[in-house]
Amino acid sequence: MSTDQTVSGGPFREAIRREGLDALWVSRPENVRYLSGFTSPADGKLLVYPDGATLYTDARYTVQAAEESRCPVFIARPPATFAHAAPLVSGLRVGFEADHLTVSELGALRAHWQVGERPATLVGSQGLVEGLRLVKRPDELAQIRAAQAIADAAFAAVRPGIVAGVREDRVAGQLEAFMRERGAGSAFDITVASGPRGAMPHGTASDRVIGEHELVTVDFGARVQGYHSDMTRTVAVGHPGEDLRRLYRAVLEAEEAAVQAIRPGARCSELDQVARDILTRHGLGDYFAHSLGHGVGLAVHEGPSLRGTSSEVLEAGMVVTAEPGVYLPGVGGVRIEDLVLVTADGHEVLSRSPKERL
Ligand code: ZN
Ligand code: ZN
Repeated sequence: MSTDQTVSGGPFREAIRREGLDALWVSRPENVRYLSGFTSPADGKLLVYPDGATLYTDARYTVQAAEESRCPVFIARPPATFAHAAPLVSGLRVGFEADHLTVSELGALRAHWQVGERPATLVGSQGLVEGLRLVKRPDELAQIRAAQAIADAAFAAVRPGIVAGVREDRVAGQLEAFMRERGAGSAFDITVASGPRGAMPHGTASDRVIGEHELVTVDFGARVQGYHSDMTRTVAVGHPGEDLRRLYRAVLEAEEAAVQAIRPGARCSELDQVARDILTRHGLGDYFAHSLGHGVGLAVHEGPSLRGTSSEVLEAGMVVTAEPGVYLPGVGGVRIEDLVLVTADGHEVLSRSPKERL
C-alpha cells in the first residue's frame, strides 16, 4: 500500500498546507472512506491534524473499524467525539467541508472548539479531498472495471427480456438481482424509462408496461468495494417510428464524437460543446437538458464535471462519463452513456455493452 493513499501521504498534507490549514474535519462519507479505508463512512468522521489523524465512529463499528481503518480509531458519539478532539485542534486553523457539513454540525464544532484560551479557527474548505480523488490509483481502477464488467454482464442477460408487455420495474429488478448475485450492489436507483417517460432524464423505473414500438432508456451501474460504474443504453422495442430513430441517431452521433474527443489535456467545457454542437445541428440543442458527463469513483457523480462552465482539464487516470441526451415532453427521449478511462494517449471505453444501430 503506497503512503499517498493514507492521511500521512504527501499530496494530502500538501493540499492541506496549500489551503492555509493546519487540520481538516472530514465528514463527507466518500472522503472519509478514501482517506481512512473505513467502509461504513457515513457513520464515521475523520480528524486530520498535524501529527496524525483519528477516525471517530460509534460502538456498532468497534470491530469493523479496528480491522479496516488505517488511522487510530476513537469510539464515541457526539458530543464526546468533539470533546475528545478539542485538545487536538487547540489553536489550529481547522478546515471543514463547506459543501457537506450541516449548519447544526458546524454549530457543534464551534461550541466545542472555538472556546478556551487557544480556540481553534474553523475555516470552510471546498474540494480538498475531492481533488485528490480525481485521478484514480490502479487499485481504484480495478474496482471500477470490475463494477462495469458486472453491469455489462447484467445488461446482456436482461436485454432479451426488454419487450412489449413487460413492466419497467421488472427490468430494473432483474438488473439489480443479477448484480447482487455477483456480489455487487446497485450504484443508484435504476432508470428504466419507456415511451413518453423517456422524456424524464431520471425516470426511475415505474410500474408502466413497455409498449410496442417504443424506445426504452436504461441507466444503471454496479458498486464494488465502494466504487461505481455508470452506463446508459437506449433500446428499441419492435420498430419505433422514423422520428424516434432520427432522435436516436443524433444522440449516438453526439455521444460517439464526445467519446472520441476524450484525451489528456482536453477541456471539459469543449467536450460538452462537441456533443452540444452536433445536437444543435440536428435541431435538438434545446432538448439536451443537462451537461455531458461527470467523473465516477467512490461517488457516482464526482469530479471532473464535463459541463460548459467547467474550467477543468482531463488527465490520464480520470474516469468520466459521456452521456448526451434529448428529452421531448410528450414524445420521449434518448440518452446514451459510456464510462471512459482517460489514458496517457487517449481513452479506453470501459462500458462494453453494444449500442443499437437504428
Ligand atoms: Zn448514468
Ligand atoms: Zn452518469
